[in-house]
Amino acid sequence: MSAEIISVGTELLMGNIVNTNAQYISQRLADLGIDCFLQTTVGDNHDRLVEAVHRGLERSDIIILTGGLGPTADDLTKETVADAFNRKLVLDEPSLVYIKQRFAKMRHIMTPNNIKQAMFPENCIILPNPNGTAPGCIVEDGTKAAILMPGPPNEMVPMFEASVLPYLEKRSGYMLKSKMLRIFGKGESSVEYQLKDLMQQQTNPTIAPYALNGEMKLRVTARCKDGEDADKIMAPIIEEVKKRIGEYIYSEDGLELHEEVARLISASGMTIAVAESCTGGMLCSKFVSVPGSSNWFKEGCVTYSNEAKMNRLGVKKETLAEYGAVSAQTAIEMAEGIRRTAMADIGISTTGYAGPDGGTGDKPVGTVFIGVAAKDKSFYKELYLTGKRERIRNMACLNALDILRRNIF
Ligand code: ATP
Repeated sequence: MSAEIISVGTELLMGNIVNTNAQYISQRLADLGIDCFLQTTVGDNHDRLVEAVHRGLERSDIIILTGGLGPTADDLTKETVADAFNRKLVLDEPSLVYIKQRFAKMRHIMTPNNIKQAMFPENCIILPNPNGTAPGCIVEDGTKAAILMPGPPNEMVPMFEASVLPYLEKRSGYMLKSKMLRIFGKGESSVEYQLKDLMQQQTNPTIAPYALNGEMKLRVTARCKDGEDADKIMAPIIEEVKKRIGEYIYSEDGLELHEEVARLISASGMTIAVAESCTGGMLCSKFVSVPGSSNWFKEGCVTYSNEAKMNRLGVKKETLAEYGAVSAQTAIEMAEGIRRTAMADIGISTTGYAGPDGGTGDKPVGTVFIGVAAKDKSFYKELYLTGKRERIRNMACLNALDILRRNIF
């Protein structure tokens, strides 16, 4: 079975956005063993879209289109595909009800052009869109099919996983099962270097690495026929990956680093409090984003000035004078101070130079100290981070979480 991808949107052609949809869909087609020989990108232009759709349907069994499902006049994808299949566009009442409800929920006025998002080619399969207003659809005719999904990746990816993947599994006779390994502390090139041979050999299971905000994800996907055991197909590769980079893998079930640390704290029955300088509340925010954190997260404070470090946390004046605010000694006193005053089992602190200014000879911009105070030990870790201010702050925050994961639980 063959498929091709048609990405619709002038922004893509102008180079304003990167075509991550095509990359995502291509990887999933490869996982399924569906040949994808062509990708086309076309602007919001009627004639060129008609041509791309017709050519796609001539040479491939399935065309997968993203973008152009919106309410405006230049959103043409459904109209063009309906024409290609000789179908009329008809109103789908349940979709209209859903769209109206969504507008009402957001307290927005629904303008009449939004009704267009509930119009679909006759006799198509409608694909729900829980993350946006434009549902997708699948139009079939004999062996040919067109799959239409919205452009925004946060709408397209969940729709693909929930509705398109089962459809393609049924058509291809294969089923996919994936495991998401999450990695911290190793860059993309280093992971790829250590797993290069596994990635090059891959047919089933496949391994796909993704870098994301200082972390890495590795998706292992097995393709199997009905009755085959996907876990058995994945097990030897996962074992081998763990042998090589196991210490950096912090979760196998897709949990993010702060979620995994939250799970560990919660399971330990301990409580934690946070004193932040350079991360300015980021670490607290990560903890608070986890449902149920009130059971174990006691308190957080942003002690940015020396006075705050002294008055709020009891950091000694002499420590600040002798070693400076960005130092191992200050980080430890901050962690001990918040642990004591918040009456928590664990105290953690961050202090560093996020830049672009600041830093000294032996402590340049990017120097960050993480302090940890627990019942019977206090310790610190010194980091030398690179990049702009936001990256340094984000990496400091992720490292603080990783230090907890590795040393406390
Ligand atoms: P909407 O209902 O939001 O208008 P749509 O289906 O009409 O959705 P477009 O208007 O074509 O989609 O694109 C909306 C946004 O989705 C773009 O501005 C862009 O940010 C993102 N987007 C579109 N296509 C892609 C793509 N191929 N890869 C990554 N992002 C994309």
